[in-house]
Amino acid sequence: MVSLPPSVRIRGRFAPSPTGILHLGNLRTALASWLSVRARGGEWILRMEDVDTTRSRRELGEAQIRDLVALGMESDGPVLWQSERGDCYREALDSLDRKGLLYPCDCSRKDLALLAGAPHEGDGLRPYPGRCRAKAAREGRAMRFLLPPGRVLWQDLLLGSQSDEPEHLTGDPLLFRRDGCYAYHLAVVVDDGEQGVTEVVRGADLRAVTATQIRLQEALGLRRPDYAHLGLVTSSDGSRLGKRDGGLGLAALAERGISPGELLGWLGWSLGCLEAPEPCLATDLVHAFAWDRVPHGPIAIPSSWE
Ligand SMILES: [Zn+2]
Repeated sequence: MVSLPPSVRIRGRFAPSPTGILHLGNLRTALASWLSVRARGGEWILRMEDVDTTRSRRELGEAQIRDLVALGMESDGPVLWQSERGDCYREALDSLDRKGLLYPCDCSRKDLALLAGAPHEGDGLRPYPGRCRAKAAREGRAMRFLLPPGRVLWQDLLLGSQSDEPEHLTGDPLLFRRDGCYAYHLAVVVDDGEQGVTEVVRGADLRAVTATQIRLQEALGLRRPDYAHLGLVTSSDGSRLGKRDGGLGLAALAERGISPGELLGWLGWSLGCLEAPEPCLATDLVHAFAWDRVPHGPIAIPSSWE
């Protein structure tokens, strides 16, 4: 285990999934995580969440790294690829198993849809109803974490005090999938712990899984990082970014004549670093970044970019 003395270093991370391009929401999260640690002299590391080998592609990850470098954000140290870390995740699973905190689950997607009334996995909205938790004869290849009951209190750098009951948000999370992939919650918690990450900046869509991940950290004896959940980037009319705008990244903006500097200016303005969106470098924004200046809600892209 690589673990750092708790109070010593500020270390942030950006951890995209290499399943597509980095869109505006991803780039805004990347910049906020980078600025937050740079403003305090900390380190920033990049991690590729390609643990889902069925959807991830190495070349997409390489392209994401190039986009970040083009915007002036470079990983301090080598980029970690989760697909290469199966042994670490196995070790963590074994340790949970020894503590009696794992159980097999043989629910199919169909079972879960019938039980929950809607797809539950991944969206954080429908908790796993615990169908296999209570079974006397437990079987199945997939493994779930036995979530301890009760409320989790945590601080969000942006949103302040938070209080959640993970059993009503995610329910017992899947840690190992029946297709043989380690699941997101396990990989993210193990990696943040082993990489000595002290702060996690990510989109508000992941706020609902934070309490679950904190429970998993506790079970694995890992340090709890600080969290910040940023408002999502929306279309200019405030609606959720659709397929069309979802493809809006560095390359699509370049086609519209938007330079990396203009994009950084808009992102910096959207994070409260600038009075107006004026072209700049990422380093120009560092001195002005502070969490209490970052707006809480969603942020709409300029209509001229659509
Ligand atoms: Zn089940």
